[in-house]
Amino acid sequence: MFEKIAQHIPDQRIWLKDRFVTIRRLDLVHPQISGNKFFKLKYNFLEAQQLGFKKLLTFGGAYSNHIAATAFAARQFGFESVGIIRGEELAHQPLNPTLALAQQFGMQLHFVSREEYRRKQDANYLTALAQNFPAHYIIPEGGTNTLAIRGCQEILKDGDAQFDVICCAVGTGGTITGLIEASQPHQQVLGFSALKGNFLNEEVAKLTKKRNWSILDDYCCSGYAKTTPELIQFIQHFEAEYDIPLEQIYTGKMLLGISNLIEKGCFPPETKLLILHTGGLQGRNI
Ligand SMILES: *Cc1c(COP(=O)(O)O)cnc(C)c1O
Repeated sequence: MFEKIAQHIPDQRIWLKDRFVTIRRLDLVHPQISGNKFFKLKYNFLEAQQLGFKKLLTFGGAYSNHIAATAFAARQFGFESVGIIRGEELAHQPLNPTLALAQQFGMQLHFVSREEYRRKQDANYLTALAQNFPAHYIIPEGGTNTLAIRGCQEILKDGDAQFDVICCAVGTGGTITGLIEASQPHQQVLGFSALKGNFLNEEVAKLTKKRNWSILDDYCCSGYAKTTPELIQFIQHFEAEYDIPLEQIYTGKMLLGISNLIEKGCFPPETKLLILHTGGLQGRNI
């Protein structure tokens, strides 16, 4: 079902600082099931369908691209959907654009406290949830599970062996794990974390045995969804120069990071970079 809607994904070469780099425009894969979420959801939806589920349940924050993409895909492929949303206070506020969109696509929003949300991977909690929402196929936060990782391996293609470094933004680590699994030994996979801290290195190390990767949090702008005037200015300049839209949570931070690293001479001159534009533009707020 996902094959039928995937458009051709263009690679775009741009001159960044002192070299040509290639940007893979996953943001163009589908208008609503955007970017990496398309690849993360693909095998989860196939699995849900094969197992005969008619309903899906997943988790996300108030601005989650995963929630928006899942809500749309669910409606598109004939599933009912429930979103467990972090922040019970949101139940009493007007919905932000992401949640309004998800609701418009038919997702039933269920707001929970931060304490409850933190238990999203806890087996007892999931059992209780399965009782409250019977017969729902459960997709974890950010869509990250083995099937998502398998889907993300398809982001890389045969011809990509020419690239030395593959760059992506990191949230839960599912996408970068797929890329690492699909990468070749001579390649380095470089992740730019949208969150502060080193814990994603530990999370991803649990998901893959390979070691040709690293995740930096140097460009997270002190935390998830936080911005700095430098980041906003960088995004504005980048969009004006290349006519490629970015957003401030993932892709803007990644490109700011890559641009800085090139400027600092961190990549030898001949290094060929493949940069993944993972989409997420529904959350653009510049
Ligand atoms: C969700 C998302 C990511 C992070 O993907 P993970 O697999 O959770 O690491 C990166 N970029 C964009 C635009 C996203 O929406």
